[in-house]
Amino acid sequence: MDAVTGKAESVRAETLDPVDWETMRDLAHRIVDDAVDYTRDVRERPLWQDMPPPVRARFRSPVPQGERPLAEVYDDLVTNLLPYPMGNIHPRFWMWYMGAGNFTGALGDFLAAILGSNLGGGDHAAAEIDKQVVNWLKEMMGYPATASGTLVSGGSMANLIGLTVARNQMSGIDLRELGLGALKAPLRFYGSDQIHSCHQIAVEAMGLGNQALCRVPSDAACRMDVVALRGAVERDRAAGFAPACVIATAGTVNTGAIDDLEQIADFCAEQHLWLHVDGCIGALLAIAPMGKALVRGIARADSIALDPHKWLHAPFEVGCALVRNAQAHFGSFTLTPEYLESAPRGIASGVWLHDFGLQTSRGFRALKVWMALEEHGVAKFGRLIDQDLAHAQYLTERIMATRDLNLCFPTAINIVCFRYDPGGLPEPALKRLNIEIMVRMQEAGVAAVSDTTVHGRHCLRAAINNHRTTRADLDILIDEVVRQGAALSRASVLAAP
Ligand SMILES: *Cc1c(COP(=O)(O)O)cnc(C)c1O
Repeated sequence: MDAVTGKAESVRAETLDPVDWETMRDLAHRIVDDAVDYTRDVRERPLWQDMPPPVRARFRSPVPQGERPLAEVYDDLVTNLLPYPMGNIHPRFWMWYMGAGNFTGALGDFLAAILGSNLGGGDHAAAEIDKQVVNWLKEMMGYPATASGTLVSGGSMANLIGLTVARNQMSGIDLRELGLGALKAPLRFYGSDQIHSCHQIAVEAMGLGNQALCRVPSDAACRMDVVALRGAVERDRAAGFAPACVIATAGTVNTGAIDDLEQIADFCAEQHLWLHVDGCIGALLAIAPMGKALVRGIARADSIALDPHKWLHAPFEVGCALVRNAQAHFGSFTLTPEYLESAPRGIASGVWLHDFGLQTSRGFRALKVWMALEEHGVAKFGRLIDQDLAHAQYLTERIMATRDLNLCFPTAINIVCFRYDPGGLPEPALKRLNIEIMVRMQEAGVAAVSDTTVHGRHCLRAAINNHRTTRADLDILIDEVVRQGAALSRASVLAAP
């Protein structure tokens, strides 16, 4: 607006919308076409490749001041981003524990962004979908309809939500108002020594401190030793602590071990302890025809953390916290400032979804899960989980039948721990050898496994959480490990660094 004349035609108000929608349409079509090819042909590309220096340099320039056509920006990404992914959508990616993504989910994220709705609350269709996805996940876990839940960024946040509700509920005081200083006795949480690192971060962030999280020894199968758990709780009570919550793991990150949920649920009922299940890996076994027996009893938990971006292969990010006692969940996070009061009708009516967690603004992460479940149905996701279990069994058998390969831990679900061991090497050399095998397979872009140390033993680790993996891919892994291992065993790499 011209300040003097006020003539509208003398200025063009600025906007982020394109000057020419048809040009944008063409580019958008091209991006979608490329995305289809990229996903369809993922098997033909290296799983991962190191970025050459110019690519790294490109991402170290200062913030752009001027404008540039979007087509150029996109070309930049075609050159500098798309060839250098982490690799987890590739059929031979088995590191850590990640989903392999799915194209429908990617369209879901796109549509969610197009809609632009904020899932902090309000009365609109996206909020209905958010609530429906939570209800579906409750149903999948066998949780009652009266239970509560919220979608969060991932398993770490889902665990933090569950543990925070547990802390508040078990404190016996108005902890939100009074804080930890008002506690009569320090609270104690229990998990096995195989517990995921996010729980330590959670107890630290919750102000309890790392020492409030007792690590109960795990048995030879990496499951929590429930006799040791009882001993720890008894000792703590005698010492004046207030045992509050047991964190059972359904699928440990190291080996996939599943704690004895029924036995731990019995123990928690007897001792009046909150049972939180970290089901980021294994909770979704509950929907698998073969797998579900492994997590029998999971619905007895007071809270469950699960991760649709793992075994439902939703694109990052989406996790979910479920809490059996809806009032305890709501009561831990609800707060209504004057600017967020509900209106009787209209956009600001309805349930405020921010009342169930730490975020105020929330993304529409539900849509990618909703679309994939509508398209495929939950039964197919269950079969895909069983397929991963069968793949892990196949890989286990191949390892046991292959000279110089050793299985390090029994395969409980879809995580296989193994190592190349030609015999006669001391542990440190064996570790160096296996790390070198792992890194070389990644650098060649052939296959990606990770490594870990369990009960003092270093091993390679294949977490087969991948709907694109075939048996032939696992055969390639076996061949590559043996080939690299044999070549390296003869080479100088084993000499101490
Ligand atoms: C992955 C994982 C987490 C953390 O979940 P994120 O989605 O990575 O935040 C927690 N616990 C277990 C057992 C996991 O496997």
